Amino acid sequence: MSRAQVIILGSGTPNAEADRVSAGVAVAVDGQPYLFDCGHGIVQRVAQAHASGKIAWDTTTLARLFVTHLHADHSVGLPDLLFTPWIHGREEALVAFGPPGLKRMARHILLAYEENIREHRAAHPSSEQGYKIDVSEIKDGLCYQDERVEVRALSADHGDLAAFSYKVVTPVGTVVISGDTKPVAAFADWARGCDVLIHEVYSSARFGDLPPAWQRYHSRVHTSAIELAALARAVRPRLLLLYHQLFWGLGPDELVAEVTDGYDGQVVSTNDLDVFDL
Ligand SMILES: [Zn+2]
Ligand SMILES: [Zn+2]
Repeated sequence: MSRAQVIILGSGTPNAEADRVSAGVAVAVDGQPYLFDCGHGIVQRVAQAHASGKIAWDTTTLARLFVTHLHADHSVGLPDLLFTPWIHGREEALVAFGPPGLKRMARHILLAYEENIREHRAAHPSSEQGYKIDVSEIKDGLCYQDERVEVRALSADHGDLAAFSYKVVTPVGTVVISGDTKPVAAFADWARGCDVLIHEVYSSARFGDLPPAWQRYHSRVHTSAIELAALARAVRPRLLLLYHQLFWGLGPDELVAEVTDGYDGQVVSTNDLDVFDL
């Protein structure tokens, strides 16, 4: 019998927060992690989860990455993800999937760290492959498959930036990760009946306090608690996990209450290092 877990590595946003790093979620199946986004602090969160015994796998097993979009809070940890696990002993190249622009970003990171790579390879015993990255720029549909998982992508709506939501089908259940997006018409059918829905959200109650320009921005590229409740009624996940939460001064319980006002399923406001069994 397979075992699958969701590990919230980063539950935050672009805002620097004391207790939250930016976006990153791992779905681990039989000890093999599949990482969705790599904002700042994600590699350290893996080390913390490993050190505290929450997960058996360590940073050297991070070898599959799915990027929702190229905003920095979802991708600024990519250099860390390339070089730190390599230095810890990762043998294989990082295999990465994401929107157009990811290949260019990866190429430029390798260029930026050319001196480090040259010196490290000359000075230490190190893997020939462990710092490399093999990028596929994806479209909607099946983007990855191995003996443990199938990963499917659906175009998200995050303004001018190409963005995807991902669905991870494991032997013991299905996880859907929204990435950053406003509600998309095709999403509910695509995600329906998933076991765990991990979705971004902003406070509907505090939205009115924002300056008009920020109201226009957030309503165009993100999902409000009221919109998420409607979406959850259509998807009916076994468990709805809130991440990338824009609280704007509210507490986690109040944000959950905004969603459960319009949705009667189980809803959890996640924190970094929360682990959920599938
Ligand atoms: Zn974001
Ligand atoms: Zn974004």
